[in-house]
Amino acid sequence: MSDLNREQFDKVMVPNYAPGKIIPVKGEGSRVWDQAGREYIDFAAGIAVTALGHAHPALVGALKEQGEKLWHLSNVMTNEPALALATKLVELTFADKVFFANSGGEANEAALKLARRHAYLKAGEQKHEIISTYGSFHGRTLFTVSAGGQAKYKEGFEPTPAGISHVAYNDLAALKAQISDNTAAVIIEPIQGEGGVTPAEKEFLQGARELCDQHDALLIFDEVQTGVGRTGYLYAYQYYGVTPDILTSAKGLGGGFPIAAMLCTDEVAPSLAFGTHGSTYGGNPLGCAVGLALLNEVAKPELLSAVQTKAERFKASLDSINAKYGIFKEIRGKGLLIGIELVDGWQGRAKDVLAAALDKGLLMLVAGPNVLRFAPSLIIPDADIDAGLALLEQAIGELSGS
Ligand SMILES: *Cc1c(COP(=O)(O)O)cnc(C)c1O
Repeated sequence: MSDLNREQFDKVMVPNYAPGKIIPVKGEGSRVWDQAGREYIDFAAGIAVTALGHAHPALVGALKEQGEKLWHLSNVMTNEPALALATKLVELTFADKVFFANSGGEANEAALKLARRHAYLKAGEQKHEIISTYGSFHGRTLFTVSAGGQAKYKEGFEPTPAGISHVAYNDLAALKAQISDNTAAVIIEPIQGEGGVTPAEKEFLQGARELCDQHDALLIFDEVQTGVGRTGYLYAYQYYGVTPDILTSAKGLGGGFPIAAMLCTDEVAPSLAFGTHGSTYGGNPLGCAVGLALLNEVAKPELLSAVQTKAERFKASLDSINAKYGIFKEIRGKGLLIGIELVDGWQGRAKDVLAAALDKGLLMLVAGPNVLRFAPSLIIPDADIDAGLALLEQAIGELSGS
């Protein structure tokens, strides 16, 4: 249809997004094709979502097979894929119990509601305070924008829920000063994704764990972006060696099919008693069948160790690009969640690099005005890494006028 173009977006869609000018119509592995048949290398994977690339046969197979059997029952009944996926998640993590949702924001909403209700049942209404970090991103529901540490996402939506405060990321002294016996939970991304791909220091997470224990508060790790193999560990908490009480997972979990999970311990799970929370679509057979197929692949030790190797390949090439152009101040992140902060002379130009890369045929991301972000498929072929970085280098070369 001739009107399925970028102009049509402005006519019929709410303007809360500003999509790029191309419209991809097909993907395979780490390659994507637009309406004109032009090919792109994908270093974005949505936003850290298509963990096994596009149209992975195991996921397509799981979706087709389940699609022909059973789509939906709602939660008045359970279903086999949900039981199988929950069992797998429990086997592979600290968690004893799972709640399924459809998005990262929903999983965090469930985590925050569980934390409040748990504190309420244990200690009463005054123990309701939630501490988050500046720069964090936890979703777009009213509770999760309130927990998020970026004012721009709250503006105009006030009044937001009360009892939420923020401390500087990686500032253990600030957390110590803020936490009290009235704290219900502390919520932290082990690596701040949207906030600039900023990894937590191990001491910060360890200290947060100790402070939560001292004050009988729950520690929530938002692993919506860092989870499902992204860091080379199934979940980043396993890399840090710090175990939360509640963990949220989404993005990579369905490899592009909407599914999310909140994982928690037997200690806290009973507080989300019958009738206290729910979701019509959460835990539906289609999403869970795809999630299970994905986890079966991603949890393989050889896949996770290959993520590290591929990350090193990125790092080596980025270092050599930087040796020529000198525009990267810092390359950071973990595994295939890579953030590249631009030098002072290039402040605010992350978007320009993204646009120039797109022109060359590379899909990538930014994380704020000064940070380039890559979050490719966890199984991106080495040849695609090399080809994509060659396009990035061309784009940077043109922008630097050489
Ligand atoms: C993307 C993201 C979310 C929100 O997930 P949605 O699926 O968009 O609701 C929450 N937390 C983190 C860390 C994220 O990266």
